[in-house]
This record gives sequence, structure tokens and C-alpha cells, in this order.
Amino acid sequence: MSMVEPTWRSTKRAQTLIHMRHEGGIIVPAKVKATCCIAGGGPAGLMLGLLLARAGVDVVVLEKHADFLRDFRGDTIHPSTMQIMDELGLLDDFLKLPHQPVPQFTLQFGTERLRVADFSRLPVRAPFIAMMPQWDFLNFIAGHAQAYPGFRLLMRTQATGIIRDGSRICGATAKAPDGEIEIHARLTIAADGRDSTLRGAAALLPEDLGAPIDVLWFRLSRHHKDTDQTQARFDAGHIFIMLNRGYYWQCAFVIPKGANERVRQAGLSAFRDSLRPLLPVDAARADEIQDWEQVKLLVVQVNRLKQWWKPGFLCIGDAAHAMSPVGGVGVNLAVQDAVAAANILVEPMRTSKLIDAHLAAVQSRRDWPTRATQRLQLLIQNRVVAAALVETDRLKPPLAIRLIAAIPGLRQLPARLIGLGVRPEHVSPPLQTT
Ligand SMILES: Cc1cc2nc3c(=O)[nH]c(=O)nc-3n(C[C@H](O)[C@H](O)[C@H](O)COP(=O)(O)OP(=O)(O)OC[C@H]3O[C@@H](n4cnc5c(N)ncnc54)[C@H](O)[C@@H]3O)c2cc1C
Repeated sequence: MSMVEPTWRSTKRAQTLIHMRHEGGIIVPAKVKATCCIAGGGPAGLMLGLLLARAGVDVVVLEKHADFLRDFRGDTIHPSTMQIMDELGLLDDFLKLPHQPVPQFTLQFGTERLRVADFSRLPVRAPFIAMMPQWDFLNFIAGHAQAYPGFRLLMRTQATGIIRDGSRICGATAKAPDGEIEIHARLTIAADGRDSTLRGAAALLPEDLGAPIDVLWFRLSRHHKDTDQTQARFDAGHIFIMLNRGYYWQCAFVIPKGANERVRQAGLSAFRDSLRPLLPVDAARADEIQDWEQVKLLVVQVNRLKQWWKPGFLCIGDAAHAMSPVGGVGVNLAVQDAVAAANILVEPMRTSKLIDAHLAAVQSRRDWPTRATQRLQLLIQNRVVAAALVETDRLKPPLAIRLIAAIPGLRQLPARLIGLGVRPEHVSPPLQTT
């Protein structure tokens, strides 16, 4: 699949709609019209763009970057997302992209290893987590969306604010490669991530739910004799996760909130020393970390909006709720939001009957799954993860985790919660190809 290029040329129609107007020597913003304007070409924005365009809704997606290349982003594609792909008839092609299947998940407490989730028995076509670079996933969705004439993806176009008509939001302003543009739309969607510009412009403030941890991400090489098991290790004072990415390990070293500076000041050598005993491969592999540039900080946020919408405006994905990294569900919840939004909004958008109640309906559909997932994440984050970081004695698995590992039937519970999520969405039958 070729990279989606910076697209002023995405469709002929877009070219005629997008142009700078010179009035009396002054350049005024070009105006673009669409039924729906989506800010953010991440999992939420692109999936919603695909679903709307597939149903014949005219949609413009704005993405500030020139490509989808980001390292250390959500690279875990869960069975729920692959089920959506299957319902769209895209799963077979999707699984041809390079990925590593993770059918089971193991936790290690001290020297004790416990299998806590077995995805292989989930009643879906792809019963595993697919580890896939997010850019491959996003290119795949964008590539398929561009087959629909109503889909326009404007790369290198950064949403900067909202356009209002009285109390109603009726579009977004954006900085494009050739200057300012205005996108006028019946519905404006903020899918621009956890630091959403449009959410701020609409004066919607997320409620912070607290996160006692941050995460340091880095890569170590993977050798052919290494285990192929993706794993998480809990030791007194440390949590270390290794995700099998084929020729490398994607490693997450969990630290207490705000400890990044302290870890860096202690020096690379101390950092490597703290890694060595945690590695299930030869300890010398820690020496591959030669520069702090190789180590990226994820500042963990857990938050959500009380209200996801305003007249003419809706937030989805991380813009509505930043998730804890526990369970790696962020991408998948973003996709679920997109599917729910499309299911509820397509018909009123097609018939020009969109009212506030439809936007409220999207929130009430997705608010409960979001709350339930965050509640569970916070429980694990605060009781197990944060507790391990302050522990000084040998760590033992909590009773609940022992029970889950010991009783095969119980192992299905985390597999379902992580793999399928709470109240999984399905592509609605009324969606039609145009
Ligand atoms: C380091 C890291 C590791 C993570 N690991 C995992 C994981 O393993 N599994 C998992 O499921 N989740 C993970 N997450 C979370 C996951 O990436 C997000 O939950 C998910 O991507 C949310 O999707 P989204 O579409 O709502 O937002 P995003 O993925 O944040 O996408 C928003 C998009 O909007 C664009 N954008 C931002 N502002 C503007 C603007 N003003 N105008 C136009 N475009 C804009 C951005 O460039 C981006 O492409 C991780 C996150 C981080 C930061």
C-alpha cells in the first residue's frame, strides 16, 4: 500500500472547492464545503471518515502531519477492531499486512509466570491481538476510504479553530500548505487526539481521572532464538513489558508519574543496569540503549469529557477520553467510537435531519463502555501497577490474578474485556456502498 500523499489532489472535486481567493489583493481563506468535517487522521477520524464516505456522506478529514509515521503509538489491533474490518469485508486484505499475532498474554510476578488472557477462544474471525505499526493500519484505512468519491483527506492541514453560527458550530478553520482555509460543515468532529485543539476551541474541558505512572518506550533487537511471547514482568519496584515486533522488541519501562527527569539524571548506565535483571533475553541487550534519544516518554493521562458534544460538534476517541495504557485499548476504543458515531449519524446526515439529540445519542452509546473500561484500568493501575512500583519485597501475584490464571473459564474474562471490550460495536446494515 503506498503512503497517502499530501493531498490537495485527492479528488477533482476537492481541487475545485479548495483554492485561495484573492480579493482586492488580500488573500482570504479558501472555503471548503462538506457534510462532515473531521479534525484528525488517527484511528477514530479515519475510521469514521471511511464509514461515512462508504455510506455516501461527503466528508473531509484534516490531518496535520504529512504522513502517518509515528513511532511508539498504539500498535495493538484487537479482535474487536478486526471484527469491524471483517464486517467491512477488509479483514483478509488487512491480515496480509505484516503483523505479529498475540493469542495469549502472560504476566510474570517475580519468578512466577501466569497466563491471564487467552484470546484464542474468542468467537471472532481473528482471535488474537495483531501487533502492527499504527502507520500501516492508518494507511490501510485511508487507502480504502479514498476509493469512495465522498472522502477527502487533507494532509499537512492543521485544524486551528471552529467556525460558529450563533451558538452552533458549523465548521473548522485550518492551516493548510498554501495558507488558511475554512471548512464549512453540518457536523464538525474533533478526533484530533488527547490534546485536541478543537475540543479546547469549543470550550469542552476533560475531567482528569489521575494516573500514577508514566512509561518509557524503547526498542531492543530480537534474535531468532528469543522467546516469541509478548510479556509483562512485575518485580519489586519495576514493571517491564516486552512486545514481540518481529525483528525487535518494543519495550515499556513503567515509572512513577513525573520520575522521568530523575531516571535521566541518574544516567544511562544506571538505566541499563535496572533493565538487565528484567530481560528474559541476554542481559547484554540492555547495552543497545546508548542515547536517551532512543527512549521516548509517554506521559500517561486518563481523562474524559462530561459532555462530548455541542450543537454541530462532537468529540470522539482520545479527544473525548484519554485511556490508560493498561490493556492497550486506546486505538480500539477510538475505532468503536467511530463505528457507533457512524451507526447513529449516517441516516440523519444523509437526510439533513441531524439534531443535537443524535449527538447526545453517540455519547450515551459510548459513555458507559468508556467509563467501565476506565474504571477497570484505574483499579489495575492504582492497585497492581502503582503498588508494584513502591514494593521493596519480592512480589507475589494478587489473589484475583492467581484465580484468573488457575481457572481456564475465568481466563476468558480478561480476554473478552481486552479483546472485545465492553459493549462491542458492529457496522450497521444500513451502510451502503455508493
Ligand atoms: C506512546 C503511546 C503508546 C500507546 N500505546 C498504545 C497501545 O499499545 N495500544 C493502544 O490501543 N493504544 C495505545 N496508545 C493510545 C492510542 O495511540 C490512542 O488511544 C489512539 O491512537 C487514539 O486514537 P484517536 O484517533 O482518538 O487519536 P490519535 O491517535 O491521537 O490521532 C489524532 C490525530 O489527529 C492529528 N491531529 C492532532 N491535532 C490536529 C489538528 N489540530 N489538526 C489536524 N490533525 C490533528 C494527529 O496528528 C493524529 O494523527 C498509545 C499512545 C501513545 C502516545
